[in-house]
Amino acid sequence: MNVDETDTTTFADLALRPELLAALSSLGYEEPTPIQRAAIPPLLEGKDLLGQAATGTGKTAAFALPILQRLRGAAERGRGGPMALVLVPTRELAVQVSEAIHRYGRDLGARVLPIYGGQPITRQLRALERGVDVVVATPGRALDHIGRRTLSLGALEIMVLDEADEMLDMGFAEEIEAIFAETPDSRQTVLFSATLPQRIDRIARRHLRDPIRIQIDGKSSAAGETPLVRQSAYVVQRAHKAAALGRILDVESPAAAIVFCRTRDEVDQLTETLNGRGYRAEALHGGMSQEQRDRVIARVRGGTADLLVATDVAARGLDIDQLTHVVNYDVPSSPDSYVHRIGRVGRAGREGAAITLAEPREHRMLKTIERVTKRPISIETLPTVADLRARRLELTSAALRESLLEGDLDGFRVVVESLADEFDVVEVALAAVKLAYEAGGVPADDEEIPQVAQRPEPEASGSREQRARPEQTGAPRRGRAPSGGMTRLFVGVGREAGIRPQDLVGAIAGETRLSGREIGAIEIAQRFSLVEVPDSAADEVIAALRDSTVKGRRATVRRERDASRPTRK
Ligand code: AMP
Repeated sequence: MNVDETDTTTFADLALRPELLAALSSLGYEEPTPIQRAAIPPLLEGKDLLGQAATGTGKTAAFALPILQRLRGAAERGRGGPMALVLVPTRELAVQVSEAIHRYGRDLGARVLPIYGGQPITRQLRALERGVDVVVATPGRALDHIGRRTLSLGALEIMVLDEADEMLDMGFAEEIEAIFAETPDSRQTVLFSATLPQRIDRIARRHLRDPIRIQIDGKSSAAGETPLVRQSAYVVQRAHKAAALGRILDVESPAAAIVFCRTRDEVDQLTETLNGRGYRAEALHGGMSQEQRDRVIARVRGGTADLLVATDVAARGLDIDQLTHVVNYDVPSSPDSYVHRIGRVGRAGREGAAITLAEPREHRMLKTIERVTKRPISIETLPTVADLRARRLELTSAALRESLLEGDLDGFRVVVESLADEFDVVEVALAAVKLAYEAGGVPADDEEIPQVAQRPEPEASGSREQRARPEQTGAPRRGRAPSGGMTRLFVGVGREAGIRPQDLVGAIAGETRLSGREIGAIEIAQRFSLVEVPDSAADEVIAALRDSTVKGRRATVRRERDASRPTRK
């Protein structure tokens, strides 16, 4: 079934236990996302589920909340194996998902353990020995523990495959099968995947019992209503989002804009940050009284505030004529939510712009929105410090021109004339321009924001699988030219360090916005490896790998051609 976007079910309607409702409210979640509304009820009933959903849809909470709902009281929980196992493709996702489950299960004392390669196994062993409720693991490391008998799945009630297509792309199919073989038949099984190729369907047929199917990628009921606005997006790392937003606002200089965030907390924080940077921003969310909300809207209508930072719930039905821009500070949780948001501008033939900030892993959600709305979203590069300066100079120049046309400047003539005795008139004009420029506010941030490389479109599925399948051949052929459009990278760890193709894919997919399927041939030698990545992403991958570890090892990473003479190790 496609998710129903007109549904207004609340978290309380989903009959979640009070500890979970309290955690969600303290996180500032105002309502379930469409995937949560569709997935949580059948999961609470114990049904198996096959869900098509990408990062950004709220899929983690969609499976985490039903897991936590089942958690027994502390007294009944022993030192046995976990009641739930979540398999994820990368260690970053393992950490992220376990943190999310930990946050939601805070009041239940849920014991959640991420296990992944690269982390000392002893720490994981100690935690497993003490007893855990939920394990979030990469398939390779989960299987390691099963082999050592340190992870027992005999008491498993729920098994989740998260980002299943990524796990298959990374060559984990056998590990997943071997793990399934260790679980009781009575288990509930949940599979989430951004795409549903045949290989996923095969796994579903083998391991899921009469599953409920839900997809976020279906037809959009609102797609036909997409207003004709200019649509663009920027891919930005989370840490740089606030600075990126400031810069975009400076260049766009909207008359009035609404900035959408996911949670109440984010609305409050962002409003504070924007006000600190000199914007006139007002918060609008479900935690405010109607009177407070009315006051805020009046300020925007009256022109004393020009940025409204809001959650979807609070902005529902809002109609403000002055709005020229809709900014999605986070990608919306479904295409319909996107369409509803951008419907705030471009009404009655007026001009409008919709700008979306997406984190690298959320890139796929943009593609889904494009497909469903049938409107292109152009991916832009962030304005640089130089762009910003050029734009500010343009604004200063326009202001001066206006002033010149307006005339009525005689009162200032005495200043120019007296300075002209001492200085050249052009010099005097330059100093005046400088003052006018600075009066417009000097940008708070004058550091460049790292650009995230544009990622190429994945190829048709056949060749994609071919390319992504990790090759574990003999000695790498270092003289061979990389495939078209690909750059070959040298990574200074190899078989000797226990590196497998999936470790490299995991490290790259986890640290950059490339997905497993975009990584090309991988060759592993005794003491080094060669990995092909799209040309456009090479710098990003090099920087990311240099800053992190592969299977716990720091490695030299460079373009292969940078190695002047390959030394056989
Ligand atoms: P996911 O698609 O699971 O990676 O979630 C994307 C983001 O949405 C995460 O930052 C979550 O914390 C957030 N999120 C999930 N559910 C909700 C919700 N119902 N309301 C607001 N934010 C949410």
